Amino acid sequence: MSEGTVKRGKLVVYSGSSGVGKGTIMEHLLKEFPELKFSVSATTRAPRPGEVHGVHYFFVSHEEFDRMIEEDGFLENETFCGNKYGTPKKAVEDMLSQGTNVILEIEVKGGTNVIRKFPECVSIFILPPSIEELERRLRKRGTEDEETILKRVAEAREEIKSAPLYKYNVINGELEAAINEVISILKKEFSE
Ligand code: 5GP
Repeated sequence: MSEGTVKRGKLVVYSGSSGVGKGTIMEHLLKEFPELKFSVSATTRAPRPGEVHGVHYFFVSHEEFDRMIEEDGFLENETFCGNKYGTPKKAVEDMLSQGTNVILEIEVKGGTNVIRKFPECVSIFILPPSIEELERRLRKRGTEDEETILKRVAEAREEIKSAPLYKYNVINGELEAAINEVISILKKEFSE
């Protein structure tokens, strides 16, 4: 098949507040849809234990990040709780033009920017059953200090206001049910 006839891949924008369980749901999605590729973002945040450069993120310095902005290397980029995060443009464009479906796990400001740029994208927002439950989950995860937890909870209150801009809202109350809901959304969207 020549390149001109390849069906463009679908772009999935996947957002949800910190601690809502979107990473866990994502792991299941990548197993369920082996042809769906996770876009690895660049970030200035320090790696958490177990995070691998080039797999979870490209961990870069502020200088490297700013150079990527200057070189127009990002599809979108945002600052979140004091750290910078960005979606590498070329990698995503290449995958889409080769017919590969790509999922961006990004926060809401970046997510809504991408939705504006690519209105045909599949956008999914994962919601917690409540803010109190979100705070409880963040504490249980134990990967952030108290100040960061409070920052992330405050951020979540703001982020949730943008949920209606996403095509699909999924509440992660019971994990299995949320996973199944997202899987059926993607099955439907990928088959169109
Ligand atoms: P974390 O530090 O918990 O890995 O990520 C913090 C937030 O940044 C999460 O909501 C995550 O989805 C988001 N994020 C990760 N990569 C990107 C990116 O490339 N762009 C934007 N805008 N947000 C990102």
